[in-house]
Amino acid sequence: MTSSRKPGAGKIVIISSPSGGGKTTICRELLNAERREQGWRFSISHTTRPPRVGEKDGREYHFVDDATFDRMIEQGFFAEHFQVHEFKYGTPRRPLDEVREHGGVMVLDVDVNGAKALKQEFPDAITIFILPPSIAALRERLQQRGTETTEQMEMRFENALREMRTFQSYGFEYVVVNKDLTVAVEEVLSVVIAHHCRLEHFPPEQLKNIVS
Ligand code: 5GP
Repeated sequence: MTSSRKPGAGKIVIISSPSGGGKTTICRELLNAERREQGWRFSISHTTRPPRVGEKDGREYHFVDDATFDRMIEQGFFAEHFQVHEFKYGTPRRPLDEVREHGGVMVLDVDVNGAKALKQEFPDAITIFILPPSIAALRERLQQRGTETTEQMEMRFENALREMRTFQSYGFEYVVVNKDLTVAVEEVLSVVIAHHCRLEHFPPEQLKNIVS
């Protein structure tokens, strides 16, 4: 199998997990100053969900209303978009194209449907599912977070259970259990490095230059 990737072109890392699985913390750790310096970026989605306390427009998400979101869909702005829980979420297409063209690593935090859709469009993207260590741990994390009403939390818990029980059917390539944050981040990094070293991702032109 040959790769269509240009030498040095960027990587897309798709991270998905049920609510409370810890992917937001993992993404924050992954995107530390050192890796930002090396060209790692976080894909900032658009959402119709209202901001939580402490969230800033343009940092965690671009917060937009329903009509704006629908207009953006029509304009082809999104690489994928889905309703998750009770709101709409979408990944902007342009930053993905830029990273593929110019290099770097783009980390995405999307739901299982978004991950599947993106993998279909970008087959050389890396897909990682983050599992909490147990259902009890997941419930505890959701409760401790305290960012949702009891009803919203129950909905997220039910959705989380469903995702944990069905994620294998969405075609994820790697699974990381988030029991210890440091270990989980190391595992995600190892996956990205190992994936990059796979022979089918090695640019044929570069190989030719080395061996000829
Ligand atoms: P939250 O409201 O907790 O920030 O996110 C809810 C869910 O939406 C999470 O599972 C998160 O991964 C997912 N999500 C965030 N952005 C996107 C996106 O652009 N596309 C899709 N499909 N899911 C997203």
